Amino acid sequence: MSEFDYDLFVIGGGSGGVRAARVAAQGGARVALAEEDRYGGTCVQRGCVPKKLMVFASEYPGYIEDARAYGWTVNAGGFDWPSFRTKLHAELDRLEGVYRRLLSNSGVETFDTRATVADAHTVELASGGTKTAKHILVATGGWPVKPDLPGAEHALTSNEIFHLEELPKSILIVGGGYIACEFACILNGLGVQVTQYYRGAQILRGFDAEARGLISEEMMRNGVDLHLGTNIIEMEKLDHGFRVKSTNGDERTFDQVMFATGRVPNTPELGLERAGVKLGANGAVEVDEYSQTAVPSIYAIGDVTDRVNLTPVAIREGMAFVETVFNGNPTPVDHALIPTAIFTQPEFGTIGLSEEEARDREEVEVYCTSFKPMQEAFAGREDRVLMKLIVSCETRKVLGCHIVAPGAGEMIQLAGIAVKMGATKEDFDRTVAVHPTMAEEIVTMREPVRSA
Ligand code: NDP
Repeated sequence: MSEFDYDLFVIGGGSGGVRAARVAAQGGARVALAEEDRYGGTCVQRGCVPKKLMVFASEYPGYIEDARAYGWTVNAGGFDWPSFRTKLHAELDRLEGVYRRLLSNSGVETFDTRATVADAHTVELASGGTKTAKHILVATGGWPVKPDLPGAEHALTSNEIFHLEELPKSILIVGGGYIACEFACILNGLGVQVTQYYRGAQILRGFDAEARGLISEEMMRNGVDLHLGTNIIEMEKLDHGFRVKSTNGDERTFDQVMFATGRVPNTPELGLERAGVKLGANGAVEVDEYSQTAVPSIYAIGDVTDRVNLTPVAIREGMAFVETVFNGNPTPVDHALIPTAIFTQPEFGTIGLSEEEARDREEVEVYCTSFKPMQEAFAGREDRVLMKLIVSCETRKVLGCHIVAPGAGEMIQLAGIAVKMGATKEDFDRTVAVHPTMAEEIVTMREPVRSA
């Protein structure tokens, strides 16, 4: 008999924690998992999944307009938010059930309660009692933060947006990252008057400048009232809506205000520091390449470590943890060349270095084309797409691939394989085009637009 209750105790039932628990249990480990909220975590309950369903819902007005341009007689009617929301939450309930079943079918014992770390091998359950484990895995994710300004307590975050009683007529979205831009586009598509304030010079800081420029232009053309170099100073609750003062001197009222001003790791009062785990400046759990913390028996994965905060990365980190700790095969997590998509309208798929990052490192050639895609152009839309490759002059490898287009998320998943394999520009060139598609442009760009 082991001296511990379990081989592994996982705190957090999101994508990373559930995967690690399940795979460890399937390998024969005795595993328990505690979740204080809903199973599935941010991705399933408050993030990727409900967001993507809202993206789909918000795109229909455009399709209906296009259908008319293609000769169909169709009329949109109105959007029934309560009926959509009911269906959305039914789907999230279904997915939560799937997660619970995956755990129980793998033999993981679950505790629907908050767990905190008492020491290197002990967790304390809020429902009472303690459990011991040879290893503890912290997978508690992140949480949205609001800036500290008057009235901010009244504002929404991405946590509440899926639960609104009714859709507002107008909303101010503060921020310029993934969440702010995605929700600006979603709500705009659903017919809400969207104003977005971003404090910097251009949205989506850190990504390729040309791609960011096109997305921001297209968002504005589609109706998002985007104000760059602008921030909120304070907000006041009125009988109906909120009065907002901003740095550009404006004082305006909005039905709702949403902050998408970043997320912080979920570590407060988790007992980690008391147990000897080291936390970084924003409360992120410090881990090595194997996701091991300063306490050898405690590991951490996913957003709580604030490495690359994406669901598939948390899942990879969970799998690498199991491989390292339970299969005797030390596996560092590979964080290089991660493809990602931002579900703005137009969508953005990206992998590797931006032009700006690449040219700071080495001499590069830039291949880029921007055009009106066939389907939308025929419908009389002005939408433009962008395909861009950053190529190393020395090795000819494609260092970055950036696509702004409908379906860019799907495209970058596949282009990402080539880039991850180290494909050269010449490998792209000798791949025959698939015609007529938008994506064919990625293999038909012959001349660089510039070298830098
Ligand atoms: P981000 O960190 O991406 O963006 C936060 C934004 O808020 C930035 O534009 C930032 O500005 C701004 N900001 C921060 N503090 C303030 C402040 N005090 N006042 C005004 N503006 C402020 O966070 P998100 O919340 O958008 O998303 C969190 C993470 O979740 C993402 O980084 C991503 O990893 C993940 N995610 C992934 C998605 C996907 O895969 N499609 C979708 C949604 C989220 P500045 O640029 O100046 O710092």
